[in-house]
Amino acid sequence: MLSVAETEKIILDLVKPFDPEIDSEILPLSQAITRILAEDINSTMDFPHWDNSAMDGYALRYADLADLSELKLVIASEEIPAGTAIAKSLRQGECIRIFTGGMLPHGADTVIMQEDTERTDNFLQLKVKPIQGEYVRRKGEFIQAGTTLVKAGTKLSATEVGALASARCQTVKVYRQPKIAIISTGNELLSLDSSQPMQVGQIIDSNLYALSALIDQVGAIAMPFGSVGDDPSKLRKIMQQAIASADIVISTGGVSVGDYDYVDQILGKMGADIYVQSVAIKPGKPLTVASISPSLNVNKSEDKVLYFGIPGNPMSAMTSFWRFIRGAIAKLNGSNQTYWYPQFIKAVTMKDLHSQGRRETYLWGDLTYQKGQPIFQPVQNYSSGNLISAIGSNALAVMHINQTYVPMGDAVMIMLV
Ligand code: AMP
Ligand code: MG
Repeated sequence: MLSVAETEKIILDLVKPFDPEIDSEILPLSQAITRILAEDINSTMDFPHWDNSAMDGYALRYADLADLSELKLVIASEEIPAGTAIAKSLRQGECIRIFTGGMLPHGADTVIMQEDTERTDNFLQLKVKPIQGEYVRRKGEFIQAGTTLVKAGTKLSATEVGALASARCQTVKVYRQPKIAIISTGNELLSLDSSQPMQVGQIIDSNLYALSALIDQVGAIAMPFGSVGDDPSKLRKIMQQAIASADIVISTGGVSVGDYDYVDQILGKMGADIYVQSVAIKPGKPLTVASISPSLNVNKSEDKVLYFGIPGNPMSAMTSFWRFIRGAIAKLNGSNQTYWYPQFIKAVTMKDLHSQGRRETYLWGDLTYQKGQPIFQPVQNYSSGNLISAIGSNALAVMHINQTYVPMGDAVMIMLV
């Protein structure tokens, strides 16, 4: 049995990230939210584009104030609203009405906000002495033309989309979305869209839906290959089709030590390299990780497809995805390293937590914040078959090997999901 950390490393080492030239596409910026940038984008402009005012107020020459007996300036007849460029230079002892975003006139270096002034006719009394350069956004202060605005590997959020728009970027080169095949295995499975009555012993193939949703959430494309009974020849056929068409294949079920667990045998016969078969994690101990060539043509040097055989129990399947597969997809799709690993924080548990201590144990529950402090509310029941118990959960407490008890009120490591 491999440790969780060893397994994570093996998996990430197996993933070869997408090629920015081959595995990318150009999208209109408006469609690029949540996608991963495939190239650095340099700014073609300085930000701000010119010195401008950060306030509604008056632009002035700071040096003029030194010579004055009282803080009083002559107000120029022009005004500078945003979007207006004026050719005028300020004369000594003069200020000019300016509005937020307005371009500073030549000579001006400071803005005083209107609340700090009193205007009488053409004169402006300053109630306070401004600081030199105050309320001026200098040209190039945020970023200079020719420097990197957004780096390759960045997942585009609203902030980056807005920044790229301001730099007049109409299209962006992003990585394509990885294709993730899903195969459900088990004689007991009935498809959700089946019109057949449910027979005794049957359950709905819910993993297909949960996994599709998880894949969707990480910005990949789920490719359902249907559910297949525990029949080695049928299973092999579907596995072959999935391997030929996807970047990553996930099958659920059939990886345990039961008599009907065929996935590993088939992978072996297909010539896959199997790297992981069992992990010291609960839930999710039976985990198969293999890599396999997508075609039978051994001479062709192709990228190998990563195969995850994960357990059928719904919470085992979810945990395997959160802990291992999510990071593999993030590395594959060109995301920067921070996305390759789950995020952990410490929180206080609201109930005692127990584990047998033999495997790294993941216990789901609800993470909230009380007065800014993270609080973890564990669920009552931890059967890996009990997906219902996880409704409303948004995090998993992690108990390390040999850690058998965390009393209520103590801090525990929490994996965010
Ligand atoms: P297995 O990993 O094949 O031994 O399956 C373990 C248990 O997980 C089965 O007994 C089912 O109750 C459940 N299970 C397997 N596949 C699915 C699925 N696709 N959707 C929901 N539950 C499943
Ligand atoms: Mg099964």
